[in-house]
Amino acid sequence: HAKSQPDIYLAMFDEAMAKASHARIAMIADLRTALEVGHFELNYQIQNAMSTLEPEGFEALIRWRHPEKGLIAPDDFIPLAEETGLIRGIGLWVLNTACEEAAKWTKPYSIAVNVAPQQLVQPSFVDQVAMTLDKTGLDPARLELEITEAGMINDPENTLRVMTELKAMGIRIAMDDFGTGYSSLASLQAFPFDKIKIDRSFVNAAHSDEQRAAIVRSTLLLGHALKIPVLAEGVEDESDLEFLRAENCASVQGFYFGLPLSHEQLQQVVSGEVLHSTDVASKAS
Ligand code: C2E
Ligand code: MG
Ligand code: MG
Ligand code: MG
Repeated sequence: HAKSQPDIYLAMFDEAMAKASHARIAMIADLRTALEVGHFELNYQIQNAMSTLEPEGFEALIRWRHPEKGLIAPDDFIPLAEETGLIRGIGLWVLNTACEEAAKWTKPYSIAVNVAPQQLVQPSFVDQVAMTLDKTGLDPARLELEITEAGMINDPENTLRVMTELKAMGIRIAMDDFGTGYSSLASLQAFPFDKIKIDRSFVNAAHSDEQRAAIVRSTLLLGHALKIPVLAEGVEDESDLEFLRAENCASVQGFYFGLPLSHEQLQQVVSGEVLHSTDVASKAS
């Protein structure tokens, strides 16, 4: 009797583990299929200039339209894509699709594309970007690659070399999620960034939270001193916006201007069909 009790727990544990790994294996297979068949789509979030509150660019954000599970957010599959290496293929699909789309716009808005750490360390990455620009005809000056600290610190020398080559092509590079890493300040000094994106965890409600406000203010001062433009992510309401305006933040992005746009909604904005981008963005789902 005394011996059977742990056995039961072990059996339950095995079953739970088996279920978890089955779900995981199934999800990996689905992820691979999604890339082959084309189950991914991009949403586009407006990046507004503070001075005009008009778009200066759009950030491409991936979604997975799973045939049975419906729409899946990137936070729920990018980690698995990174673990399995599938992120390299997915990332290349995002880059191609976003550049192809932006090349069709009649106004020269910039297009921001997130780049995963694993893409950055691929020896062929710079060639992939060059080929994508060549194929789509997109002006390199309109492409902005967003990288996070995780993508730089493992191999700083490679990161610096890759960034230098990309910048020589005329591409801009933004530091995403600024302030969330271990050494955001050191990274800013070590790498030639063209933009700082303050993480939304600091921006949201900064007007009413002294600690967040202090972090946002310091980042803006730092950006001004280093002559690096700063964009604030996660602007959710008028108070967030007015706080950032008073602190001279150059660009803003967030749900206050609407949810990221579907491909159809994006067409209305870039074609000038709607006078104010917020008219369509507020109806985004
Ligand atoms: P990120 O690059 O920092 O993108 C911004 C995220 O914040 C997006 O979430 C966006 O929808 C969300 N967001 C924007 N404004 C607000 C706001 O006002 N309030 C709040 N609470 N959130 C806001 P999303 O689309 O779920 O993407 C999450 C993360 O997934 C991205 O963070 C990025 O790290 C990653 N991701 C998205 N697309 C790609 C991709 O194509 N490749 C890679 N490697 N990662 C991607
Ligand atoms: Mg980003
Ligand atoms: Mg971010
Ligand atoms: Mg993020």
